[in-house]
Amino acid sequence: MNIHEYQAKELLKTCGVATDGGFMAQSAGEVEQRLGEVHGPPYVIKAQVHSGGRGKAGGIKLARDHDEAISFSNQVLGMTLVTAQTGPAGKVVRRILVTEAAKVEQEYYLSLLIDRSAASYMFVGSTEGGVEIEKVAAQSPEKIIKVSVDPMTGYRPYHGAEMARRLGLTGDLAKQLGTVMAGMFKLFVEKDASLVEINPLVQTKEAKLLAIDAKVNFDDNGLARHPEIAALRDTGEEDPNEVRASQYDLNYIKLDGTIGCLVNGAGLAMATMDIVKHYGGSPANFLDVGGSASTDKVTEAFKIILSDPAVKGILVNIFGGIMKCDVIAEGIVAASRTLGVTVPIVARLDGTNDEDGKRILAESGLKIIPAASLSEAAQRIVKETR
Ligand code: GDP
Ligand code: MN
Repeated sequence: MNIHEYQAKELLKTCGVATDGGFMAQSAGEVEQRLGEVHGPPYVIKAQVHSGGRGKAGGIKLARDHDEAISFSNQVLGMTLVTAQTGPAGKVVRRILVTEAAKVEQEYYLSLLIDRSAASYMFVGSTEGGVEIEKVAAQSPEKIIKVSVDPMTGYRPYHGAEMARRLGLTGDLAKQLGTVMAGMFKLFVEKDASLVEINPLVQTKEAKLLAIDAKVNFDDNGLARHPEIAALRDTGEEDPNEVRASQYDLNYIKLDGTIGCLVNGAGLAMATMDIVKHYGGSPANFLDVGGSASTDKVTEAFKIILSDPAVKGILVNIFGGIMKCDVIAEGIVAASRTLGVTVPIVARLDGTNDEDGKRILAESGLKIIPAASLSEAAQRIVKETR
């Protein structure tokens, strides 16, 4: 789960990391009322959307005085921000963060993530802050500094000292970096984060280290332990179908192809997408209905696929184990009846109760094309959607 910059900064602050503060607002009127809380002018007005690259896209503005703060707030609120991460449709800005403008001397990059291959935590730092770190990694990999933290010891001051040395920070600044890293580590572990990123971490003219942009991702599987984190979710930032799917406990990810896929099991879903690609098609989604879905859940999954206007055909690929093929078939029939399907459906059912499932589909009177194997099913749906 992603959260907004202003929420990430609030969490970092509770862990002892200095930020540029400020407040979140949803209207220019609110900004007018609360601007006095922020040290300034100048002020920074920042679009709050779940995406980086906002600066380049025009979502971050430096306001020289009170009036500019209000007019920029009006400008940014409601604008559609198109960044490298949002896709061409962009994201509508519904919230802004108003902060004091930091007097930036130097920008650094600092993040904490999990290094799965080393089974440890890893801090990543760079003197090339503010810009896209992927570019730095591609163009000048020697500027990416990695400091791994053994989960058995956790964060220790020597991790901070090493990062400071390699970033060229000394004296009090090195000490401040240690505080920032200790705070990031605490947040990461205590709240089951999967990424804590500060870009940029700035050194100000007053020789203070401040987080002026922050991004935190959480492991969805840990959210049940942290209701206060789950409450930070802004579903307005997510794909509406993905939100709907999560309410039904379906693993759904929208993709940009034309063949809707309904599959049980994540591995089978991956294999299905591969084989669709292999035969020249392109999947419209990843959808794993899980190992033990009810008819209701399957019906909902089908509705979600059908509500995507890009879908030109549907491939159902079920391998019945705990999941019974007849349950899937009933879900497909129920959803098709209520929604009136006009696109072709190819179904491959195998495993537990597959004969019952096939019979239910055949007797439904709906035009559902049966397939005996996965490769036959994939070739058929690709042909049907050409
Ligand atoms: P992003 O573009 O979505 O990553 O948003 P950021 O919050 O990182 O802002 C982009 C850039 O704007 C930063 O790298 C800074 O160079 C600049 N910026 C943001 N806030 C301030 C500020 O308070 N003072 C100054 N001088 N620059 C800022
Ligand atoms: Mn940034």
